[in-house]
Amino acid sequence: MAQPRILILGAPGAGKGTQSANIVEEFDVEHVTTGDALRANKDMDISDMDTEYDTPREYMDQGELVPDEVVNAIVDEALTQADGFVLDGYPRNLEQAEELEEMTDLDVVLMLDVGEEELVHRLTGRRLDPETGEIYHVEYNPPEDEEVEERLVQRDDDDEETVRERLRVYHENTEPVVEYYEEEGTLERVDGEQTPDEVWEDVKATIEDAA
Ligand code: AMP
Repeated sequence: MAQPRILILGAPGAGKGTQSANIVEEFDVEHVTTGDALRANKDMDISDMDTEYDTPREYMDQGELVPDEVVNAIVDEALTQADGFVLDGYPRNLEQAEELEEMTDLDVVLMLDVGEEELVHRLTGRRLDPETGEIYHVEYNPPEDEEVEERLVQRDDDDEETVRERLRVYHENTEPVVEYYEEEGTLERVDGEQTPDEVWEDVKATIEDAA
């Protein structure tokens, strides 16, 4: 399998971004992530799409899903341009899963399993270095450099109230997507509560086995 087509599923905070970065480096594929694409276009005018709000920002800041029409277009465009990819943050509901099936075939579907309280702890403690894009955690992975520590910021939607809402939305909308791939027999579960290196060992082995 030269250029694998990989889907990575898991709740917010399960480690999809971290493991996707490893996958990109090891397997030389594109990282297609709707969360980053939307954050870079938070104020894009979507008023012609007959949606409740006029930009993605209102949905994202409340932890709600951005309308399918917007997200499907982003993914369709990105997948058309990629040979191999790791898709992260999509599909978030069954309608998106059905859209994806029309767009492409998948070689591997991974699911990172992490318990609820661990997810809340990871997300509310997550910090971002706005200069390098590096992700830290106040407790698990604080920066050594004091200057870096002082400039760290929190993602707008990582406050506890929004985190709880994002997890509620995940359970309601995205867990059926996990069941969909489970019933299809393609889902490969990985224990996401191990150390990042241990998770990566399992992720890498799972992708290689699917080759
Ligand atoms: P993430 O970085 O994946 O946690 O995504 C951050 C936010 O972007 C989510 O809370 C949603 O508001 C929005 N978003 C990302 N991916 C999707 C998607 N596939 N469908 C709808 N909204 C999305």
